[in-house]
Amino acid sequence: MVYVYAFHEGNKDMRDLLGGKGANLAEMTNLGLPVPPGFTITTDACRAYLASGAEPAELAAEVDAHLIRLQDVMGRRLGAEADPLLVSVRSGAKFSMPGMMDTVLNVGLTDASVAGLAAQSGSDRFAWDSYRRLLAMFGRTVLGVPGERFDAALDAALAGALAGALAGAPATARHGRGVAAENELGADDLEGLVTAYKKIILDATGQPFPQDPREQLTAAIHAVFESWNGERARLYRRAERIPDDLGTAVNIVAMVFGNLGESSGTGVAFTRDPGTGEPGVYGDYLPNAQGEDVVAGIRNTLPLAELATRDPASYRELLDVMKTLEGHYRDLCDIEFTIERSKLWMLQTRVGKRTAAAAFRIAVQLVDEGVIDLDEAVRRVSGDQLAQLMFPRFDTSAAPEPLATGMNASPGAAVGAAVFDSARAVELAATGAPVILVRRETNPDDLAGMIAAKGILTSRGGKTSHAAVVARGMGRPCVCGAEQLDVDLAGARFTTPEGTSVAEGEEISVDGSSGAVYRGALPVAPSAVVDYFEGTTGFDGATGPEEAAGPEEAAGPEEAAGPEEATGSGGGDPLVEAVHRIMIHADARRRLGARANADTPADAARARRFGAAGIGLCRTEHMFLGERRILLERVILADDDTSRAKALADLLPAQRGDFEQILAAMDGLPVTIRLLDPPLHEFLPDLTELSTRLAAARGRGERPGAADERLLAAVRRLHEANPMLGLRGVRLGLAVPGLFDLQVRAIAEAAAARLAAGGDPRPEIMVPLVADATELALVRARAETVLATVAERTRADLHARIGTMIEVPRAALTAGAIAGEADFFSFGTNDLTQMTWAFSRDDVEGKFFSRYLELGVFAVSPFESLDVTGVGALVGTAVADGRAARPDLALGVCGEHGGDPASVRFFHRAGLDYVSCSPFRVPVARLEAARAALGVE
Ligand code: PEP
Ligand code: MG
Repeated sequence: MVYVYAFHEGNKDMRDLLGGKGANLAEMTNLGLPVPPGFTITTDACRAYLASGAEPAELAAEVDAHLIRLQDVMGRRLGAEADPLLVSVRSGAKFSMPGMMDTVLNVGLTDASVAGLAAQSGSDRFAWDSYRRLLAMFGRTVLGVPGERFDAALDAALAGALAGALAGAPATARHGRGVAAENELGADDLEGLVTAYKKIILDATGQPFPQDPREQLTAAIHAVFESWNGERARLYRRAERIPDDLGTAVNIVAMVFGNLGESSGTGVAFTRDPGTGEPGVYGDYLPNAQGEDVVAGIRNTLPLAELATRDPASYRELLDVMKTLEGHYRDLCDIEFTIERSKLWMLQTRVGKRTAAAAFRIAVQLVDEGVIDLDEAVRRVSGDQLAQLMFPRFDTSAAPEPLATGMNASPGAAVGAAVFDSARAVELAATGAPVILVRRETNPDDLAGMIAAKGILTSRGGKTSHAAVVARGMGRPCVCGAEQLDVDLAGARFTTPEGTSVAEGEEISVDGSSGAVYRGALPVAPSAVVDYFEGTTGFDGATGPEEAAGPEEAAGPEEAAGPEEATGSGGGDPLVEAVHRIMIHADARRRLGARANADTPADAARARRFGAAGIGLCRTEHMFLGERRILLERVILADDDTSRAKALADLLPAQRGDFEQILAAMDGLPVTIRLLDPPLHEFLPDLTELSTRLAAARGRGERPGAADERLLAAVRRLHEANPMLGLRGVRLGLAVPGLFDLQVRAIAEAAAARLAAGGDPRPEIMVPLVADATELALVRARAETVLATVAERTRADLHARIGTMIEVPRAALTAGAIAGEADFFSFGTNDLTQMTWAFSRDDVEGKFFSRYLELGVFAVSPFESLDVTGVGALVGTAVADGRAARPDLALGVCGEHGGDPASVRFFHRAGLDYVSCSPFRVPVARLEAARAALGVE
């Protein structure tokens, strides 16, 4: 097995083996771009190291051989006294994990070679600066010395430098923070710092800093391997759903220096704005600095455009490189570069992360530029991104003056209590309180706080600072570099130049789209994308029901409607126009239909505006929440035929009215009405509460009424230990005579009334919780009788398809027999997940799922994203057996998974006809159905 690849031996498709950074360094090398020479140690080597605790036997020799080649190319030997070659040792996994793993720069510097570096560079200051950076990075990441010890020594040096400088300079020339800036430290200060750092290392580890360059290199490689399992890295992987077993590659690259004076520098750039998608190059530059200074947000950066005047030749070359990269990768690229004495070097590139808005806009721009086609544009955006665009934004029409304005680093509106410490943010968020994490800058140790926070605010750092990059990746609103704010971490408050102070716990609003920060909670307004789906933007391209109905479901040819012409103007909003064009194309490409779960006429109408081709689940029990609950309670508790008949008769008008309105809202489209499925505990008074109340009344000497006593007796009689597995669904229908008859009658009469009014009602009757074909056969026979009776009485031409939910494992396993009684199946994956895993859906998520996620039992809750292996297998069986028994059987899903992107793609592959989800997820389902049809796994 080969463990090491030179850059020219790899390419961009080898990310599994070389990591993203290594694969793209190889690609850039082969494109002839100016990449410093180097080589990559594979993720195989990392996995072997992590599994056995030692590097594979062949690795050292392979590294030696590649090092010799690198030395030959560079004309220098690693750490040689007179003219040392220095290398960086950089982590780089398959998926980008910004700042979460370790990197060591300047490997090869020793007490002896520092003098050689000074002589070669002509700068003592540079040489000592490089050495102290190596000592601090190596000390921290390789030797595990606490970082604060190096920081404290640096602070002391900065204070000393200030004292010295103040003796000779006018005080007004200094910045009055009590310390000098790092770039004001002289060679002597830095040499002193090197001595201090070496002592810190010796004291902490009992060993001197290694003076053998090859030993440094080996130790740095091992540290990078180990950083794969560091706490930050594991936390980030969990948040980003990156598998734990990939390992990281290690890149050994000849050092180039951005800290060799004013003609040197380092920067980060994007080929388009990753925040908004606006075309044009964009980035940050920091003169006289090393790479980590930019990302760490320690010093405020210059806009990239300033490089045009500082170093026009390098700037032009950089623009050329960016053009080459975009053309080659056919997408937005982000890059890291260094300029060493006016010579440009490329240190990294990758297809860049971007916000949801940028993703849609860039995809459409690339179509217009002829770089990709619309199919590819649909593949390049995701349902999750679309969902993000549907979040509300601030209504700033009556907003007060902002407290400060920083950079709009990651869009969205966040309101919460200001918190100045990550641990505190985690603690408060755990109590359910929304918090905004406020820091001067963030570093990878803040990750837990960033995950817990609703939004992030920093006073330093550019759009490529750690805070900005991580927040964009997580979709958290972020304002960074709000320099006007004086953030006092120890005092847990920030202060504006006008003297307004905000302390921990006070509410602030952070607008990641504009960069503004407000005191208090600003009102939020719906997103422009939601307005577009609602059709309230005045944009004539907005989705009308027919236009968006997309492909036909097996339900009936009437539902089909061709895609609309993609001609909308977007009402002038380029994001809305991008969403419109992508959705139109998605509707033309998808095979799966998208219906909605809706129980009210208002939800049905919204679902229709959002492009639903009907209702896939109308939960009738939801019609008896609130004031009407008592009607249902009477039906369930009735203990003789007369009182039951009376209770049912009371139910009829309410049900008929509901159905009529919903059928009107969905006129011409199917409406699947599910017969009652109330787990009894959700609809009856709580036994403990009721008995306590009556006992207390007796205690007060009162006599509970006869009705209360009867209620208590009935609740006792019906009390269940496992209501989710109790008298629900079809069981209730068979156990309570007349209940389902009444509901079917309400449906039939509502449909007849709609027909009489000239409408086109298409009700479908769905039976819940069926486990055996006989249950369905019994309900079906009764329902057909009731339908025929109403048809005869009203002289209406009534038709309603009758089908069943598949939500009990036994139903999936006997689907062939059940299909004999069903016109359609709708998978109830909420219950199917509950019963397949034996997980109580009301209990487990809050109880132990976080532990299960931590232990890797699953990477995401099976209630959120379908468990393809287990529950998916049951779906597959039921599809195959159901269709074998009845080829025209219509198939859908109406569990929560119907709106989850990965699950929607699974249902496409499983061969269903439609998914049904909440109205707001309908656009997400439409998009993901198209992506599935276009081959996205
Ligand atoms: C289901 O079980 O997936 C379903 C849609 O029904 P409910 O959530 O109402 O039990
Ligand atoms: Mg269910």
